Amino acid sequence: MKSSRRSFFKKTALATTGLGILPIMVKPQSLSFNWDSDTMINPWIELSAKAYLNNAALIAKMAQGKPILAVLKNNAYGLGDVQVAKILDNSPYIHGFALVKDTRCIALREAGIKKPIVLMGDFSDSLGQKLLKEEITLSAFSKESCKKIAALPIDETRKVKVQLYVDTGLGRMGMPYDQPLDWIQTLTRNPQITITGLFSTLTSPIDFAKEQLKRFQLFKEQLAAMGVSVKNTHIAPSLSLLQLQESHLSMVRPGILLHGSFPQAVMSQAKAYPLQPTFRLRARIIRLERLKKGDTIGFSRFYEVKQEEWIATLPIGWADGYASSAENGAKVLIGSKLFTVVNVNASHCNVVIGEERQVAVGDIATLIGPDAPEITPEGFSHLIDGHNYLQINYKESLPKYVFDEFV
Ligand SMILES: *Cc1c(COP(=O)(O)O)cnc(C)c1O
Repeated sequence: MKSSRRSFFKKTALATTGLGILPIMVKPQSLSFNWDSDTMINPWIELSAKAYLNNAALIAKMAQGKPILAVLKNNAYGLGDVQVAKILDNSPYIHGFALVKDTRCIALREAGIKKPIVLMGDFSDSLGQKLLKEEITLSAFSKESCKKIAALPIDETRKVKVQLYVDTGLGRMGMPYDQPLDWIQTLTRNPQITITGLFSTLTSPIDFAKEQLKRFQLFKEQLAAMGVSVKNTHIAPSLSLLQLQESHLSMVRPGILLHGSFPQAVMSQAKAYPLQPTFRLRARIIRLERLKKGDTIGFSRFYEVKQEEWIATLPIGWADGYASSAENGAKVLIGSKLFTVVNVNASHCNVVIGEERQVAVGDIATLIGPDAPEITPEGFSHLIDGHNYLQINYKESLPKYVFDEFV
């Protein structure tokens, strides 16, 4: 008994790291108590490899064939940076990955990711050597960071790849474009350092983005005059990628589009480019009770039962990253029907089932997924007046299961 249990877990652990379909982990919803393992009582995320690969191909089309530097910061917007990188490492449209945390760049390499990885942020001194060993491209984004990179003790056999990060108007990261370029010389003087790229980030208003592009071009010319010629340039997050063709430069750098959502609620490009939502957020019903008229749900007694009705409890709440504003009208799919969320607490939420007991404890509820327009990431955000980046709040602790495709 003990050993078979252990081998069961081993098998599932292996399966979740690859692209294999996981028939054992997620049973279709059923009306019985047929739960496979304790872990599945907790909410989880399912990812579709096919949807990610489809989206990468569509983004390449949007960018007229330019390669994609996939932004997987914030744990790939809450969906699992390692899992998403493993899928996209197989896409011919993806050049590489960009992240903002040193530890996550290393985690990707340790998970076997082969494509280039760019760290768009700072690094701890103690991780400097490790980053070089794992061939992570570093960013020079300030005078201090140039000094820090130049001071790294570099093995004679090693080349260090560095991209120059310039601020053209976002005002957040990068060397201000209009400052003297002496900071860069600290790097160019070192023969073991190779400058492999120049990048910046565009803001949303198109007029200002155009001005930023001019500043970027000027900066590039000044660099060239200094004897530093950089061919590889990138500046466009999803919105500029869609709205401003001249921002595509040598590569595009989207985040949200990869996961199947557009950066803004209503975008005219949505028809021409049928992106697919890449994930499902799911949990099982753990309690189902018939409440009486006048009963209330939640600490603030947020929802009052108007007539006798069945109320289901799902073990997921805002502490897991499910938006608390979902209680303002979001839907959940159970079986083939949509039900309304009426309460979201830290670790639970409640759904009105109605007068008929149409579901059972143990049934799987899909809170977000491609299965109905109301529960796609965009449909969900629309119902609760939110933006399209809400999944960024999903907790890292939510288990991820990767499928070849959703059926
Ligand atoms: C987040 C981010 C992106 C991607 O933004 P999306 O709007 O998700 O496409 C690109 N570049 C930088 C520097 C970022 O921080």
